[in-house]
Amino acid sequence: MPVFGGVEAGGTKFVCAVATAPEDVRAETRILTTSPDQTLAQMLDFFDRFGPVDAIGISAFGPLDLRTESPTWGHLRSTPKAGWAGTDLVGPIRERFGVPVAIDTDVNGAAVGEGRWGAAQGLSSFVYLTVGTGIGGGAIVDGRPLHGLMHPEMGHMLVPHDWSRDPFAGVCPYHGDCLEGLASGPAIEARWGEAPEALPLEHAAWPLEAAYLASGVVNIMLALSPERVIMGGGVMEQAGLIGAVRQEVRALLRDYLDVPAMTAGLDRAIVLPDLGRRSGVLGAVALAEAALKASPDAPSTSKAT
Ligand code: ZN
Repeated sequence: MPVFGGVEAGGTKFVCAVATAPEDVRAETRILTTSPDQTLAQMLDFFDRFGPVDAIGISAFGPLDLRTESPTWGHLRSTPKAGWAGTDLVGPIRERFGVPVAIDTDVNGAAVGEGRWGAAQGLSSFVYLTVGTGIGGGAIVDGRPLHGLMHPEMGHMLVPHDWSRDPFAGVCPYHGDCLEGLASGPAIEARWGEAPEALPLEHAAWPLEAAYLASGVVNIMLALSPERVIMGGGVMEQAGLIGAVRQEVRALLRDYLDVPAMTAGLDRAIVLPDLGRRSGVLGAVALAEAALKASPDAPSTSKAT
């Protein structure tokens, strides 16, 4: 039975795991994201110690070069994370271990993980949206992660901003009041002077948050026609927020998407992740599994599945 390596490469930490499935994680570690040399060396050491693995998947912060024909495929592009722009995340792994390597955005990775083992099993089109330090979305369309020109940046979509209800200018350094600028964790904290987890259920922050997130979700539903939108990230851990988002989505759609899954079943169309905070690293493991299946040397048994 093949064994996989997964790397959730984040701006503050790299989570690395050796696993075959969520219930069979054989080793796991957290490495602080310091310099590329130091962090990648620790990652390679982890797989040296706890391998061998048959393939490795990476779900990474970005922006990333994901054009498979590009000479810099798997490299970080101009990231605000100091020292990391241009870093090759794939090359060092391939050189050391010679196994198939897959890379995708952190949110596409989480989407793949939820599709494989979580809240989107059996679906071919769905979106994973994370609402935390930033907002980002990964889309699976007809069974494949959507990349497009670069990759979707759903957090930066523009949403209606009623300045009389919410005079806050937003925190996005590029756009001010894009979705991330208005509704990410840092936006909530800047607007109300308290971290999201410190704001009680009845605080005015939450209806406003639900309204912004619902605008984003409606735009995603109308643009991509997903069967389900999975909403993860730290902000979504607020009790009741997912229900408030569903109500706002229903109000905004006005019965326009007249299919039973939308009109009757919003509680199944907009859901929390099943894998919770483990979406990222398990998504990377799922990327590794897919990479092995797609590789020319894959054993015929795994190709047949
Ligand atoms: Zn923005």
